[in-house]
Amino acid sequence: MTFAELGLSKPITEAITKLGYSQPTPIQEQSIPAILLHQDLLAAAQTGTGKTAAFVLPILEKLRQQTPCQSKEIKALIVTPTRELAAQIDANVQDYATHLKLRHHVIFGGVNSKPQFKALLSGCEILTATLGRLLDLYQQGAIDFSKLQILVLDEADRMLDMGFIHDIKRLLKLLPKQRQTLLFSATFSKDIRQLAQQFLNKPSEINANPENQTARQVEQFYTLVDYEQKTDLLKQLIRQFQWQQVLVFTRTKHGANRLTQKLERAKIKAAAIHGNKSQNARVKALAGFKSGEIDILVATDIAARGLDIKQLPQIVNFDLPNVAEDYVHRIGRTGRAGESGSAYSLVSEDQVEQLQAIETFIKERLNHLEVEGFKASFARPKSSHKTTSARHPRQGRNNSTPRRPRQSRFAHRKNEQA
Ligand code: AMP
Repeated sequence: MTFAELGLSKPITEAITKLGYSQPTPIQEQSIPAILLHQDLLAAAQTGTGKTAAFVLPILEKLRQQTPCQSKEIKALIVTPTRELAAQIDANVQDYATHLKLRHHVIFGGVNSKPQFKALLSGCEILTATLGRLLDLYQQGAIDFSKLQILVLDEADRMLDMGFIHDIKRLLKLLPKQRQTLLFSATFSKDIRQLAQQFLNKPSEINANPENQTARQVEQFYTLVDYEQKTDLLKQLIRQFQWQQVLVFTRTKHGANRLTQKLERAKIKAAAIHGNKSQNARVKALAGFKSGEIDILVATDIAARGLDIKQLPQIVNFDLPNVAEDYVHRIGRTGRAGESGSAYSLVSEDQVEQLQAIETFIKERLNHLEVEGFKASFARPKSSHKTTSARHPRQGRNNSTPRRPRQSRFAHRKNEQA
C-alpha cells in the first residue's frame, strides 16, 4: 500500500517521501481513508506508531484546496495534553505541508501569550494547542470556532489522567456540532469510551496497538535493587554499557531534580524535564539531549509524553509507574519506527507488586538482569522469570551500534519454574 493509494495527493506524498517515509504504518493505513471519508474516529495508537501523520496528512488533504480562513478563524484544531507534544505536532504539520499554502500555528502555556494572540488574529487553517491556553485565548477573543471542520483530541487518555475532562467538555460545547471528531488514545479505557459515546458521531474504531502489548522490538529488563542503591546502580549501568541518550523516568518532579543533580555530581551529563521547569528550560534540555550534549534526560511521565526523539536506544524506569498502562507509554519511547531498543526497570522492594501488575498487564515477563555488586536484600515472591547476568562490563563499544547489552554477553537462564 502506498500513500497515494490511500488518497493523498502529490504535494503531500512528495513531502513525506522527502522525510523518508516509504510506506504507511498500520495506523496510517487504517486512519487516512476513514478521515478522508469524513468519518469520526476512535483510534487506539501509542506514540511511535506514526499516529501524528495518521491524522495530519488527511487533514492537509481535506483542507488543501479550500479557501483560506478569515480573521480569527480556524478549520482544524488539534488538542494535546502537553506543550512539547503540541510543538512537535506543529513541527510535523510544517514538514508535511511544505508544498501547500496552508497556515498553521501552535499555542501553549508557559510562554507569553501576546505573540500567540497576534498570530491568531489573521486566522489559520490548522491550530495545535494545549487546552488551557486555547480556552484562555478564546476567552480573550482571539479565536473564532464557527468555521471549524475537524477536531483532533490527541492522547485523550492522558488528558483525562491529567484532569482535563471539564476543560474538554467546555471546549466541545464551544465548537460547531457539524464537525468531524478524531479521538486518539493509547488505550480505550471506560472513560475514553464514555467520552467517545458522548461526543463522537458513529465513529470508526481503529486499533493499531497489539492488544495491551509493548512494542515487540523492545527488550525489557529489570533489576531488583535496594532503594538507596538505585542511583549507584544507574550510574554503573550508564558506565558499563556506555549509554548515551537514555531517557530516565522518575515518579516525581522532585525525584527527577534530585537524580539529575546526583548524576551531574558524578560527571554524567544529565538534565531534568518536568512540569515545574520553564518552557525555555524544557526546550533547552530537549535540544541538548537531541544534539548529544546531554546523555541522560530525567523526566516525569507527563513531561516525557509525546517527546519525539528518533531512535532512542534505551529508557530506564528509575521508579516504576503506578499505573501499568504508563509502563507501556514509557516503553513506547524506545524501539520506535522499527528501531530496536531496550528498557530497564530498577525495582525496589516497595515496587515489586507494581512489577507484577505490569507483567500481568502486558502479558509478558521481563528479563531479570543481575548486576555485579548490586545484590538486593529482598527477593521476588516465587514466580517464573528469566534471569540475565550483566557481570562483565563491556569495553570499547563501537559508537555506531545501538547501546544495549548484546545477547552474547549475557548468559540467559530459563527459570526452573517457567
Ligand atoms: P508518532 O507516532 O507520530 O510520534 O511518530 C513516530 C515517528 O515515526 C516520528 O519520528 C515520525 O516522523 C515517524 N514516522 C511516521 N510515519 C512514518 C512512516 N510512514 N514511515 C517512517 N517513519 C514514520
